[in-house]
Amino acid sequence: MTDHGISVSGITELVVYLFFVFLITILALTVGKRGMCHSICWMAPFMILGSRIKNRFGYPSLHLEANSEKCVKCGVCSKNCPMGLNVEEMVRTNTLQNDECILCGGCVDLCAKNVLRLTFKKAEKPNTKKAYILDTTEDPSKTVSI
Ligand code: SF4
Ligand code: SF4
Repeated sequence: MTDHGISVSGITELVVYLFFVFLITILALTVGKRGMCHSICWMAPFMILGSRIKNRFGYPSLHLEANSEKCVKCGVCSKNCPMGLNVEEMVRTNTLQNDECILCGGCVDLCAKNVLRLTFKKAEKPNTKKAYILDTTEDPSKTVSI
């Protein structure tokens, strides 16, 4: 049925829809940008498992690399990362192999200093112990380590 511009096939579907809208909103407000992706995405465990297997056996793969000495700490990469990652911090601490990174290449394209690049080869020293996520719920410059 379509009523007042809203299409649902029944009350159950409407309740399920509203539940997920509520869940996404609450997670975004509490965890920050992409709260649902960081917290309950069912794809994440498979991506993390694949990443860990790749690192364990040293398979070549697409990943980010950075020349941190060229970074001027402008923060453009962090502000525009669709996953809300603190890319600037990742560059500074050499933690670019982040399980939360979806390798979209946005930070690579936006960095005016050409600090970042995507490359396909075996990573030298993977460091996935820390994931830096911008805490967008309060101070935008604040970083949360998980
Ligand atoms: S956009 Fe480039 S120069 Fe600016 S903080 Fe990010 S890596 Fe550094
Ligand atoms: S490649 Fe995309 S998801 Fe990964 S850090 Fe850069 S902007 Fe964020």
